Amino acid sequence: MMWEMVIGLETHIELSTKTKIFCSCTTQFGGEPNTHCCPVCTGQPGSLPNLNKKVVKYGAMAGVALGCHINLVSKMDRKHYVYPDMPKAYQISQFDIPLCEHGKVELENGSVIRVVRIHIEEDAGKLIHEGGNYLVDYNRCGVPLIEIVTAPDFRSVEDVLLYLDKLQGIMRTIGISDCRMQEGSLRCDVNISIRPKGAEAFGTRTEIKNLNSFTAIENAINYEFERQVEILESGGQVEQETLHFNSDTGETRSMRDKENANDYRYFREPDVVTVRLSQEEYDEIVASMPELPEQRLKRYVEEYNLTEADARLLVKYRKVAEFFEAAADIDAKSAAAFILTNIFKSVPTEVQREEWNIKLSAENFRELVKLTAEGKINKNIAKRVLDRMLETALSPAEIIEKEKLGGIDNKEFEAVCRKAIEENPAAVADYKAGKEKALQALIGYVMRLTRGTANPAETTEELKKLLETV
Ligand SMILES: [Zn+2]
Repeated sequence: MMWEMVIGLETHIELSTKTKIFCSCTTQFGGEPNTHCCPVCTGQPGSLPNLNKKVVKYGAMAGVALGCHINLVSKMDRKHYVYPDMPKAYQISQFDIPLCEHGKVELENGSVIRVVRIHIEEDAGKLIHEGGNYLVDYNRCGVPLIEIVTAPDFRSVEDVLLYLDKLQGIMRTIGISDCRMQEGSLRCDVNISIRPKGAEAFGTRTEIKNLNSFTAIENAINYEFERQVEILESGGQVEQETLHFNSDTGETRSMRDKENANDYRYFREPDVVTVRLSQEEYDEIVASMPELPEQRLKRYVEEYNLTEADARLLVKYRKVAEFFEAAADIDAKSAAAFILTNIFKSVPTEVQREEWNIKLSAENFRELVKLTAEGKINKNIAKRVLDRMLETALSPAEIIEKEKLGGIDNKEFEAVCRKAIEENPAAVADYKAGKEKALQALIGYVMRLTRGTANPAETTEELKKLLETV
C-alpha cells in the first residue's frame, strides 16, 4: 500500500524585542545562568506582569506578512503545566482569542499551507543536564514568542523545509526575529500522521517536540513516517503521544501521553489587561510593512532580469538584498555575480550573511560595479580589487592606485600590442595562415606585459586590427 504523510507544524519564534514580554529584563541570548531574571519572569508570588506593547506590534506584523486577519482585541490566558522550566507552573499564552488567524503561505513548489493562528506567549527556561543533575537557567523565561500554527497541509518533507525557509526569510525581512535555529530562536513541533494515499480521513497523530535544525526536522519526519508505516502494516495501531527526537541516534522516543487542551486548565490571565490594538496602530503596521522576499524576488526577475535562482539567494537576507540594490541600477547582473560568487565566499555561514558585517561598504561596492560597467577595469581585475576591498575596507580607486592595477593608456596599449606581434613571428605566421587559435598566444603575451590589466576583448580587437597591416 502507498502511504501519505500528513503534517502540521507549530513553530515558535523568539521576537527580537530588547526586553522580555512582561518585565524589563534583557532578551539577549546567552549570559551567565540566571542573570537576566527578576521576580516577574521567575514567577515570584506578588509580582505583576506588564505587557510589552512591542510584542503585540511584532506579532501583528507577522500576521500581516502571512495574510492573517488581526484581532484588534485579544486576551492572554494561563496554560497550566508542572515542569521545572516554568517556576510559576503556568505559561501565559493565548487560548481562544489569538492575535492573528486565517493566513496562508504559498510555497515555491505550488503547495499552499494554511496558517490557522498566530498567538503571543512567553518562553520557558532551559534545563541543563550536568553530571547526573538537572540544573535550571531562567534567562530565557519570559522571552517573547509567537507560535505559528498551521493546518495539517504538508504532504512531504520538501513542503516542510520550503515553508520554514520561507518563514525565516519573511520574519528576518520584517525585522521581528533573527530566526536562528542554532540559538533556539526558531523551534518546531511536528504533528505527523499517515494515511493510505487517496484516503480522506486522518490517521492518529504523534507530536515530535522541539526540533531546532533543518536536518533534525528532516530526519525526525522520515524516521517517524517509517515507524508509523511499520506499525500499521504489521496490524498495530499508532498511539497518540508526544515524542522526543534524539539527533544522535536518529530515533524518536515517547516523552509522555499527549495532553489534551483541557489538561492545561486554560483560564483567563487576571493580571494582564485585554490586548488591544487601535485601528490607527493597525493601519500604521500595514503601511510600514517592508517589501517581502517574494515581492522582491519577482521584482528582481522582472526589473533586473536575474534568474530566479540567483534572485532567491539575494532576497533571503534583507541586508544582502539592500547591498545588492545599492549597485543594481548600474549593472544588476554583475552586481549579483560579485555578491554570489565572490563576496559570499568570504561570508559562508547563515549568521554571517544575515548580519552582513563586511568591510566593503555599499558605496565602494557601487563604485566597483561602475568601474567595471564603464570598462575602466576588466572582470579579472575587478575580482582582485574586490578581494582586497573585503580585506582592507579601501575604495576601489585606492586599491587600483596602490596595487598598480589601473592598466595603461591607449598609446601604451597599442605599443604593447605591436610588441607582441613583433616578438612572436611564429604565432603571427600561423594566424596569417588561417589558424585563428594562434591569436591566443599573442593575447597571452599582452596580458603578461600588462600584468593582466588589459581587457581581453579590446586586446583581441586591437591585435586583429594591427595584424591586417602586417
Ligand atoms: Zn524579568
